[in-house]
Amino acid sequence: MANKIEAKKVKKSDLKSYVRDIPDFPKKGIIFKDITPLLRDKDAFKKTINILAGKFKKENIEQIVAVESRGFIFGAALAYKLGTGFVPIRKKGKLPYKTQSITYQLEYGSDTLEVHEDALQPGARVLVVDDVLATGGTVRAVCDLLKQQKVNIVGVTFLIELRFLKGNSRLKDVPLYSILKY
Ligand code: AMP
Repeated sequence: MANKIEAKKVKKSDLKSYVRDIPDFPKKGIIFKDITPLLRDKDAFKKTINILAGKFKKENIEQIVAVESRGFIFGAALAYKLGTGFVPIRKKGKLPYKTQSITYQLEYGSDTLEVHEDALQPGARVLVVDDVLATGGTVRAVCDLLKQQKVNIVGVTFLIELRFLKGNSRLKDVPLYSILKY
């Protein structure tokens, strides 16, 4: 008798159907890419991590660096799959030990990101992971912070790239890979 719980085959070309557009969230004019339908589907989530792992498995990555909070979801799963460590980048005041920080401009005001000062060794081969590349401001700041720590940024990677916002133009000095482009 056939197993009733057969795994569906989710293809890369299917993944966009698991991303839901939420207009005017969190504010008017923004179309928010809601990834929770993808996360709640075990096959779509697994496919996402397997695509990223396949892309970077030969790169001898030593640490996955991810940005709170949705970056942690993909970053931690990818670190497990690739057998690397995981280093969190957090908003100001959240990390308990001594930190190195970077402040960057937002549309209105500024934001500060921090990493533990002893989290990364100089020369470490690092992959930066986040869910969405929008304007690129966040990941640009992360890369600048990592460069201060003299690590080797092997790549920056995203589930989703909003190409019309041209975030890639701010990341020309690092290899960039995103699974889904809009
Ligand atoms: P960025 O403009 O590239 O600095 O985007 C900062 C962060 O905001 C990204 O890490 C995303 O998690 C989030 N973000 C920006 N725009 C969107 C969007 N349209 N849908 C979902 N998340 C977004």
